[in-house]
Amino acid sequence: MSARIQEILKAIPKVDRLLAWPEMAPLLAAHPRAEVIAAVRLALAELREEVRSGRAGAPDDRSALIASIESGLARRSTHSLRSVINGTGVVVHTNLGRAPLAVQAEKAMLEISGGYCNLEYDLQDGARGKRNAHVEGLICELTGAEAALVVNNNAAAVILALSTLAIGREVVLSRGELVEIGGSFRIPDVMRQSGAALVEVGTTNRTHLRDFQAAASEATALFLKVHTSNFAVVGFTADTSIEELAVLGREKGIPVMLDAGSGCLVDLAPYGIAGEPTIARYLETGADVVTFSGDKLLGGPQAGIIAGKRSLVEPMKRHPLLRAIRMDKLSLAALEATLRLYRDEQRALREIPTLRMLTMPAGELSARATQIIRRLRRGLPPVVELRKQQGESSAGGGSFPLLQLPTTLIEVQIASAAPQRIEAALRRAGTPVIGRIHRDRFLLDVRTILDRDIVSLGASLAEAADFLTQEKR
Ligand SMILES: *Cc1c(COP(=O)(O)O)cnc(C)c1O
Repeated sequence: MSARIQEILKAIPKVDRLLAWPEMAPLLAAHPRAEVIAAVRLALAELREEVRSGRAGAPDDRSALIASIESGLARRSTHSLRSVINGTGVVVHTNLGRAPLAVQAEKAMLEISGGYCNLEYDLQDGARGKRNAHVEGLICELTGAEAALVVNNNAAAVILALSTLAIGREVVLSRGELVEIGGSFRIPDVMRQSGAALVEVGTTNRTHLRDFQAAASEATALFLKVHTSNFAVVGFTADTSIEELAVLGREKGIPVMLDAGSGCLVDLAPYGIAGEPTIARYLETGADVVTFSGDKLLGGPQAGIIAGKRSLVEPMKRHPLLRAIRMDKLSLAALEATLRLYRDEQRALREIPTLRMLTMPAGELSARATQIIRRLRRGLPPVVELRKQQGESSAGGGSFPLLQLPTTLIEVQIASAAPQRIEAALRRAGTPVIGRIHRDRFLLDVRTILDRDIVSLGASLAEAADFLTQEKR
């Protein structure tokens, strides 16, 4: 290290001296002392590092150091996990936390969170109870299943079901359904994890009942079907229906399990979203066990739901794995509240955000866009231009991969900033806003912007405008 650098390092003030600077007084008044000290340490460490690497010389005034301490304090007081505005139009966006909860579910979580609750306590008998009991009846009521069990997520549900029903035995599955759901959930790997042997039948595009028939043996524990969720095979295809498989299964004494993925509890066909049977329908047509997610189309918290025949679900409740994948009380509270809304289908469509957003008519989306633009304009500088545009949104969350719903977009222009700069500025705003760039324009899809987002959206747009116009000067 050069003597010059050593000299600069020596001149950098110590924490105590710096805390006594008059410029520090307002920070010490506004934040706990320990927080300020932590931010000072961080700022000094950063400065020393810059000096050592030759990127900074002697600090010529105090303001740069004070600014660095202020920014450190801001970073320390901002949570890592926070609310964002979803302007992507993807209703169930896995990276953005999947389903936003219904107000009733939010309330239920809050109600339970700060105190004790009867999570595993039977208030009738004054004895130990089961956490599953809070939702099993509701799930059975809504799906027609004999028994139900909830776990942490659907991946866990599939592993638990296979581990319980097929360990050391064979599971027959079509090659057209050997799917990967986002990174780490791949059916062949899950099967291996569960200790079941995978027997692949048919081809990628065509699998027939006779393929299952030929593969069935003494060693077969299950016929498995997996929802292809995030892709579709089109063209020369053939699939084996649950109905056909169930008939064959009954003949051979082999149960049929379905990993339904998203899990729909209301028929969305009347709203132009066809092709996704409800869980009740799957069970009715012959599936013996169905597993699905709580936080995809269903619109609840992260959860894996297993519904089906009592003889198959009961052993899962006793499997040692269950302890490792059980649901926590907050999610359980939210799930119960969400499921209760489904008792009245119209109410579910109105009050569960995923369903409301997916079924929102084109006319309403367009009217909302007009209204949102009008509300936002009032508080924004003239450099921000908002324009309505027609476009399409997708469901996301591994459901309806081909579905494109007509929607209304808001195109955002700020001064003459490139869309990539607008995107970055909004993403880093106090309330981050996530949109998309299409044909060199930055767009926000009105479908996934919630009513309660609008005030923050205005603030974030103003912040981005500030940042982008200052930067140009
Ligand atoms: C999404 C999905 C899963 C995984 O569900 P998680 O709730 O995310 O664990 C499993 N199978 C299918 C078919 C899916 O679509």
